[in-house]
Amino acid sequence: MNKTKVLYPGSFDPITNGHMDIIERSAKIFEEVNVAVVKNIQKKSTFTLEQRVEMIEKACKHLSNVKIHQFEGLTVDFAKQIGCSTIIRGLRAISDFESEMQMSLANKKLNDELETLFLVADGKYAFLSSSIVREIASYGADISELVPENIVEDIKRRFNDK
Ligand code: ADP
Repeated sequence: MNKTKVLYPGSFDPITNGHMDIIERSAKIFEEVNVAVVKNIQKKSTFTLEQRVEMIEKACKHLSNVKIHQFEGLTVDFAKQIGCSTIIRGLRAISDFESEMQMSLANKKLNDELETLFLVADGKYAFLSSSIVREIASYGADISELVPENIVEDIKRRFNDK
């Protein structure tokens, strides 16, 4: 297990400026940040796994110590597979805390060596979620302040195609 290598898992449906803030801050603290899109069979996504990965790749192009993955199954297993002993998650509000704490305790139960570290969301992104972006984009309204600049058109196009 590499102490300076962390895993940031999520749905990223799609990636937002809030996610980017967590990735960029983690990339300053740790040597390697592994962003991984979870293929969750119980959670229906708007964007395909490939589209979500592609958008993160575009958005993180400027970050040399960030790697992008996709995985299916348990986060603890994937962390072990790629040699990460730390999971990063973002906390926006108390409402995030309950489920995040439950998940981190469940992961600890599955692998006692795995730690979850929480970064508090930047105040200006505390309201932001992928579902807010999807809602706004679905009405054709402006999302340019909410997601990385170079994926705005990709998101718009995918909503226009629907
Ligand atoms: P999941 O379905 O695993 O919660 P998400 O893509 O919704 O996937 O979120 C991934 C992680 O990013 C979670 O830890 C979530 O709390 C965090 N996150 C989401 N939006 C923001 C934001 N605006 N600022 C900071 N962290 C965020």
